[in-house]
Amino acid sequence: GREWQLAARPHGWPTPADFALVEAPVRQPAAGEILVRNAYLSVDPYMRGRMNDVKSYIPPFQLGRAMDGGAVGRVVASAAEGFEVGDAVLHGLGWREYATLDAAHAVKVDGDLAPLSYYLGALGMPGLTAYAGLLEVASFREGDTVFVSGAAGAVGSLVGQIARLKGAKRVVGSAGSADKVARLVEEYGFDAAFNYKDAPVAEQLAAAAPDGVDVYFDNVGGDHLEAAITVANPHARFTLCGAIAQYNDTGAPTGPRNLALAIGKRLRLQGMLVGDHAALQPAFLADMAGWLKDGSLRYDETVVEGVENAADAFIGLLRGANTGKMVVKI
Ligand code: NDP
Repeated sequence: GREWQLAARPHGWPTPADFALVEAPVRQPAAGEILVRNAYLSVDPYMRGRMNDVKSYIPPFQLGRAMDGGAVGRVVASAAEGFEVGDAVLHGLGWREYATLDAAHAVKVDGDLAPLSYYLGALGMPGLTAYAGLLEVASFREGDTVFVSGAAGAVGSLVGQIARLKGAKRVVGSAGSADKVARLVEEYGFDAAFNYKDAPVAEQLAAAAPDGVDVYFDNVGGDHLEAAITVANPHARFTLCGAIAQYNDTGAPTGPRNLALAIGKRLRLQGMLVGDHAALQPAFLADMAGWLKDGSLRYDETVVEGVENAADAFIGLLRGANTGKMVVKI
């Protein structure tokens, strides 16, 4: 089977030459293991951080070794109790066609309840990030005005819709194209949206949220964060989820120059890691499955076909080629 290895550590924006698709032997499962034929691979922004040789909350990818990440697939051989050939599983050995792993590290998923790819998105890690980041980290309350950046992406599109479904007064989003902005309002039910490439974020946000914001869900950092601090209402809560605007920066990042406003406004700026919120998983799955089933929440995917296109899909994700969750179908 083929697997993607990190060939070089990207400096700034990753290029195709930083990745290599390599033929690797498929190992039959030992006792307690399963062999999975992957059906969908996830590409996610956090993987960019793992391409740098720095200490972080998750270890870096090793050069010349297979990368890993979320994947769903079907068991094709099993030496583990409770796992049968044909079972659908979610696991962490993505970026490859075949994965041999300890069955304890796989979670069975229901392919009849939803398409398998949904377990990498709305029903998976990005979905829980949106749900926990809004409801738990930002302490969302009915009647809040919510602003979310990266609003047409996997996490952001869910944040805005969960806020609407949970009784937000106003939901505002930003994204990087006119098509995405139209989709936010027309398909996802945002009250207002803007293209951050059209004019300064501070100006556009002030116009879109004339009464300020109570919650800012930050996927982007940079001038988005600065603008949100400026328009924030007293006691607003910020979920610092991602800072994708700086993931490919080579120089020192620019901080929000107005951070001192947080003092007088008594803002709460809280970072999050989705892994801390596993306890919310049952409530999240029940809510999300219900919303998907009754059509009250729209979920989009951008599906790139072919394992050979996974590196391009990842680079495309960083450039905004996706609407909703970017996945690779293999
Ligand atoms: P998305 O589906 O949102 O894809 C990334 C998007 O980022 C692109 O589609 C692009 O959309 C946007 N983008 C790229 N560059 C910029 C920029 N300079 N300024 C503004 N937007 C930009 O990815 P996810 O939903 O998977 O992740 C969203 C964020 O959440 C990321 O920052 C990620 O790191 C973070 N995250 C954090 C987790 C945690 O536990 N803390 C867990 C999961 C995700 P556009 O066309 O609009 O520019």
